Amino acid sequence: CIDDSSYIKDLKRDIYTRFSLVFFTLGILIFVFLTIRRLQSKMYSLALIDQLTQIYNRSSFYEFANKQVAKRRRNNEKLSVAMIDIDYFKKVNDTFGHSAGDLILKDLAKIVLGSIRTYDVFARFGGEEFILLLPDTGIDVAETVLERVRKNVEEYDFPEVGNVTISIGVSEINLEEEIEAAIKRADEALYEAKATGRNKVVLAQ
Ligand code: GH3
Ligand code: MG
Ligand code: MG
Repeated sequence: CIDDSSYIKDLKRDIYTRFSLVFFTLGILIFVFLTIRRLQSKMYSLALIDQLTQIYNRSSFYEFANKQVAKRRRNNEKLSVAMIDIDYFKKVNDTFGHSAGDLILKDLAKIVLGSIRTYDVFARFGGEEFILLLPDTGIDVAETVLERVRKNVEEYDFPEVGNVTISIGVSEINLEEEIEAAIKRADEALYEAKATGRNKVVLAQ
């Protein structure tokens, strides 16, 4: 009888040990799995998102844009693209410092995001240049949207710096055109906006 109870005690301890071991291993596996998932999503975000402004970067813009161009051809929808550039940004940096300039880039991204639809694709194209793809939008509606964007930026009081303006060039993508050609025309319109006084929206031919 004494032997029996000590046998059962040993058996119980053995079962507890095995259970603990199984749960411990399971815990570690779950932890490793979650860590890998977190790292994957971090890598994904680093590859797609501009780290300063938290909007899309140039290469993810092209991924979305190429898909939209293909879709546009199939469905015969309109599609417009806009290049946005901050006016006299070098002067802002020189006067208020580079970190004040960085804050403007961040705030500007938020203002534009707040002025567009969720399925418009807004990205930092490089430096102080941004690009906006407007699916299902012809040049006339694009002009209205970008005029609103321009006005919202103009009216915003940027901390430390005050008022900052942007110039915008817009083009509608022709049926057989690649995105690069439409960007080039938007860029030429932007150049015209700069040359004719800045703080304005110019439509490409
Ligand atoms: P314009 O009205 O003709 O566009 O004049 P601008 O001074 O804005 O144009 P320019 O191309 O001469 O200068 C762009 C400036 O943008 C130069 C560079 O120092 C600044 N810049 C580019 N990227 C960044 C950035 O990530 N942070 C900050 N703070 N400044 C940047
Ligand atoms: Mg520039
Ligand atoms: Mg500029």
